[in-house]
Amino acid sequence: MAEISKDFKNAGLSQSMLDNLKSLGYLQMTPIQEKGLPLILSGRDFIGQANTGSGKTAAFALGILAKLDMTNHMPQALVLVPTRELSEQVANEIRRLARFTSNIKVLAISGGSEERHKVKSLKQGAHIIVGTPGRITKLLQTGVLITSDIKVLVLDEADRLLEMGTIEEINRIASFIPVDRQTMLFSATFPHGIKTLSASLQEDAAQITIDSQHQTGTTKQIFFKVEGDKNDALLRLLGNYCPESCIIFCNSRETCNKVAGLLRTKKIDSLQIHSDLEQQDRTLILIKFDNKSCRILVATDLAARGLDVKDVSMVINYDLPSDHELYVHRIGRTGRAGQEGLALSLYTHLERAVLRNISAYLKTDCLISEISNLGKLKLFVLRPFMSTIYISGGRKDNIRPGDILGALTKQAGLKAQEVGKIHILEVNSYVAITHDQVDHVIECLNAGKIKGKKFKIGKAS
Ligand code: ADP
Ligand code: MG
Repeated sequence: MAEISKDFKNAGLSQSMLDNLKSLGYLQMTPIQEKGLPLILSGRDFIGQANTGSGKTAAFALGILAKLDMTNHMPQALVLVPTRELSEQVANEIRRLARFTSNIKVLAISGGSEERHKVKSLKQGAHIIVGTPGRITKLLQTGVLITSDIKVLVLDEADRLLEMGTIEEINRIASFIPVDRQTMLFSATFPHGIKTLSASLQEDAAQITIDSQHQTGTTKQIFFKVEGDKNDALLRLLGNYCPESCIIFCNSRETCNKVAGLLRTKKIDSLQIHSDLEQQDRTLILIKFDNKSCRILVATDLAARGLDVKDVSMVINYDLPSDHELYVHRIGRTGRAGQEGLALSLYTHLERAVLRNISAYLKTDCLISEISNLGKLKLFVLRPFMSTIYISGGRKDNIRPGDILGALTKQAGLKAQEVGKIHILEVNSYVAITHDQVDHVIECLNAGKIKGKKFKIGKAS
């Protein structure tokens, strides 16, 4: 097995943390971790600016975990994030990084149907709290969240926090936290408001900026000139490359609808993510994409911002984004953390100026091709690899991935390779299994028990 690199070994992390990083496949630091972590671990206030997908979460999570006193059950770190699903994602990444510490409690507070359980959990003690400003404000005002022992305050996606709320709201939250705290601010872009925010919340902050030009290295980028119809070009890209997983980006909601409609008429399974979906629907869409029950996600920039979907093998820009930063953001979804990615863009002669702008920004000549270089459009299917089933129990029932895997292999007799990713949420769980086992699994698990309890099991629709 590959060895963990010197930069991690020399960072002053515990041996059990190093073992855990290795088991997660974090063998080398990303640039923001390499430059930022020594400063973060030194306890200084910190500003980190780096592209989406560059490992900012782990940078602050390692800082938080190093400071945690496990004998104290009071909240010791507060992470503010702009959206509900980010609070779940960030909490999950922290949990993964904390796997070696038993009994650590990381709580995502984000409203929605699970709120009641969360407040109960919080009252029972939690070490790290992740939440949106709105929900956190509420918990502070009602006195449910006790801040006296909080030593670390993180503002994740600070640019976006500012877009969604006000500086006053964030300042008000910060005023509840002891002043001798460490305050860290992370952002992919650096609008003016961030300086103001830093000035009011931080003291002598160290700042690290990683240029996005240096972050597209492992992704192959090809720009396809389209003379006629983009729909035809899109189908040819999909048919030719048959991506295992793919995000198709469009500039507007309308175009997304159009593309999703096109795929539907061609019987190609896809899911569309947009910003006014119900929270539960959004979560399920992302789980299905992550666990390979759906191979294509159609999205606008707004809907996809901040989402950490792993291992996307290909990104297609159905439209070129109006802005080069956005372009780098989009293609940052593929080729993450050292894996090779593929970013294909369609452009018409009307978008040539945008392409020149992107090319200048990337400081390279863009690789230009023509759709006619691809094979003729033939019939193809991109059948998902897995199907998702839901289980009506989750973290509140102390269900762990091993319990679900155990039920699937022992009660339903599945082989390990017939089981995909398992996602455990607060009140329910989702697991991916191969298509041919769906009915059998639903029947078996409904008849049996998990952790000694009966749950409802069904197809996640
Ligand atoms: P950001 O917050 O900068 O957008 P994330 O923290 O969400 O990025 O990280 C992106 C992905 O990279 C995540 O899937 C994370 O698990 C992974 N990752 C982070 N650090 C490393 C590392 N050192 N080695 C490998 N993968 C990493
Ligand atoms: Mg992030």
